[in-house]
Amino acid sequence: MDYRAKVDAVREQIARSCERSGRRQEDVLVIGVSKYVGVEETRSLIAAGIDHLGENRVQSAVPKISQIAEPVIWHFIGNLQTNKVKDILPLFAWIHSLDRLSLAKELQKQADKMDRVVNCLVQVNVSGEQSKSGLAIADTAPFLEQLRGLERIRVKGLMTMAPLVKDAEEVRPVFRRLRELRDSLLDDHPDLLHLSMGMSADFAVAVEEGATMVRLGSILMKP
Ligand SMILES: *Cc1c(COP(=O)(O)O)cnc(C)c1O
Repeated sequence: MDYRAKVDAVREQIARSCERSGRRQEDVLVIGVSKYVGVEETRSLIAAGIDHLGENRVQSAVPKISQIAEPVIWHFIGNLQTNKVKDILPLFAWIHSLDRLSLAKELQKQADKMDRVVNCLVQVNVSGEQSKSGLAIADTAPFLEQLRGLERIRVKGLMTMAPLVKDAEEVRPVFRRLRELRDSLLDDHPDLLHLSMGMSADFAVAVEEGATMVRLGSILMKP
C-alpha cells in the first residue's frame, strides 16, 4: 500500500480546507487511526510521516503498541472502561473519550501512581444520538468544574463524533456547535484549545469548522 500518497492527499485536502476558512495547516493534527491494520502496516504508516496514532480498543491496542518501537504519540479514542485505565495509561499520552467522573477519578489515581499527567479531551455527544457516548452539551460545563481538583488530568479540549451521513455538509452544524461550546467555555477553561472532530468521511468540513485534530482511519488505510 502506498501510504505516502494517501497521507499526501489527505494533507492536501486539509490545506484546502484551511485556505477556505482562513486557518493554518500546522494547526491541524492528523491522527492516523490504525485500528484496521496490524503491526507491519502501522509501521508503514509511521514511515509515511504519521507520528500521532489512534486506537479505540484496549485488547488489540495493547499488544500492538508494545511491538512498535517508533517514537509515536498514541491517542486513545474509543470508549474506555474504568478497569482498563491501568492497562492503557502507560501506552497512551492522550485520552479523547473522557465522559464521566468515575473515569476521571481512575485516570487521576493511575496517573498519580505513575507520577505523570494525562492529556484528556472531554467527549461531547453533540448530535444527541442514543448510540453515541459523550456528555450532553448542557452537562459539559458542570463536568469541567468537577474535574478541577484532579491535578493529574489536563483537559485540553473537546471531542465529538458526528452521525454517519451521505453528505458531510449535513454534519457541519455538529462541528460548529462543538466549536461554539468550546468558545463559550474558554474564559473559565483557557486550556481548552483542542477540538478533536472529523473522520474520513467528514474531516474537510470539520477542519473548516475549527478541528485541531482529525482522526483518520479508512481514508489512509483502505485500498
Ligand atoms: C474508527 C474511528 C475513527 C476513524 O474512522 P474512519 O471513518 O475510518 O476515518 C475516528 N474516531 C473514532 C472514535 C473511531 O472509532
